[in-house]
Order: sequence, then structure tokens, then C-alpha cells
Amino acid sequence: SGSLYVVATPIGNLADISQRAIATLQQVSCIAAEDTRHSGKLLQHLGISNRLLALHDHNEKQRAASIIEKCLAGEDVALISDAGTPLISDPGYSLVRLCREAGVPVVPVPGPCALITALCAAGLPTDKFQFIGFLAAKSSQRQKQLADVPANAGTIICYDTARRILDTLDDVAAVLGAERQLVLAKELTKTFEHFAYGNAAQIQHWLREEPQRCQGEMVLMIAAEAEKPASEISAEAQRTLQLLLAELP
Ligand code: SAM
Repeated sequence: SGSLYVVATPIGNLADISQRAIATLQQVSCIAAEDTRHSGKLLQHLGISNRLLALHDHNEKQRAASIIEKCLAGEDVALISDAGTPLISDPGYSLVRLCREAGVPVVPVPGPCALITALCAAGLPTDKFQFIGFLAAKSSQRQKQLADVPANAGTIICYDTARRILDTLDDVAAVLGAERQLVLAKELTKTFEHFAYGNAAQIQHWLREEPQRCQGEMVLMIAAEAEKPASEISAEAQRTLQLLLAELP
């Protein structure tokens, strides 16, 4: 049978599309996309005139059946989302699941993903992290989402919107403490890419300094409780270190 290719596309900078992604999008018989108008622009930019098929959360199961039929008949189909990696806070899960169940090979074509892009440059521990997806629209639900993360989960990563970020930061302070260290990654791979550091109040202050800072796309990262800057050594440890160093030949 044909395969379903899960193809990552850029999250801002169009140069981030991979050569394999381009080749795949050219070669498949059709491309399932979240928003065909939005993806049409990307394909136009890449000079690809392939057929687009709309796939969103409310028609996904139904569309999946016809995509699986195509694949079983020998056609290759690609899945893309508006930005980044499909299925990551984006449609595609039902389709991939149903393809697997139907024996249709699913081939990942990796590329940009906002949470990994944010994490790899934030300077927070990366050995262990928990992605909790989009924070809810309601404050009480956001607080529950944050409270539900176990203390040993490592760095917490969430997607949030410009409209809600100031309120979200209030919730972070309320649930995880006013001193918890945060990194807000904005407009990744775009012209105004910025990483803002500090506790909730400090990041709110930065956001309020200029109105356009409260716009655009953002990933919020929350340090695990015990996180301290790598350079911070307790006073007692420093004294001990000095004593030991003095003894060294
Ligand atoms: N599938 C995408 C991925 O692989 O990251 C995520 C799609 S989700 C609908 C969109 C959210 O991802 C935005 O609200 C924002 O939180 C985050 N995001 C996407 N692009 C971003 C960017 N360039 N800079 C910062 N955050 C971004």
C-alpha cells in the first residue's frame, strides 16, 4: 500500500523546511492540511502545486477513512499542519491511529516543533521535561493543569496565546509560587524572536513595557522547583571549596 507521511513544516522561518519535506510534498498524490488556504501559501512559496485536502478536528475521522482508502489503493498521502509538527497540539492523531490499525505505513518526516525549539535555547534543564499542551482558556482550569504536574516532572512546557499570557502568569504565580523561574519564548524563528526571563511578575512587567510584546506566538517554560542557576553555589559550599582549594598542592 501507499504510506501516510507526517511532514513537519516551518513555525515562522520558511527556510526551516527540510529537503526531505519538500521532496515528500512534491511526490505524494495529495496533501491533507489543517487550513488549505494557509498551506496553499506555503506550497506556492515552494513551487508545489499538489492537491490539498482539508483535515480538521471535526471532520478528521471521516476524512481519515477516505485517506486510508487512497493509501490502501497504493497512493501516498502527506499530512501537514499550519505550522510545525502535525499532531503536536494540532490535528492528526485519529488519522495516524486509524492508519496504524489499518496497516497503512506511517512515515515521519521530522522538522520544526515549537516546544523543542523553545526548550533547546532556553537554558533550562532539558534532561527531563513535561509538555502540557495548550493552557486552558479559563483561569480555574489553567490552575488545575499546572497543579496536576508532578513536582518531579522537570521543566514544564506549555503553549499559550498572547491574549491570555498576562492572566496565565498570575495563575503560575498563584499555583507554583511568585518566585518560580520562567522563560517565555516568543516569535521563534521569526524577526522578533525573543526569550524573556524571570519570575511571573518580571515577565509581566516586560510584556507590559511595549504593547506589541503582548502579541504573537509564545511558548511558556517553567523551571522545576529546585532549579538554580548553574553558577549559584551556597555560601557554605563556597567556604568549604575555598578551604579545600587552599589545601591543594
Ligand atoms: N504543531 C505546532 C508545533 O509543532 O509546535 C504547534 C501548533 S499549536 C496550534 C500553535 C502554538 O504553538 C502557538 O499558540 C504557540 O504556543 C506555539 N508556536 C507555534 N509557532 C511558534 C513560534 N514561532 N514561536 C513561539 N511559539 C510558537
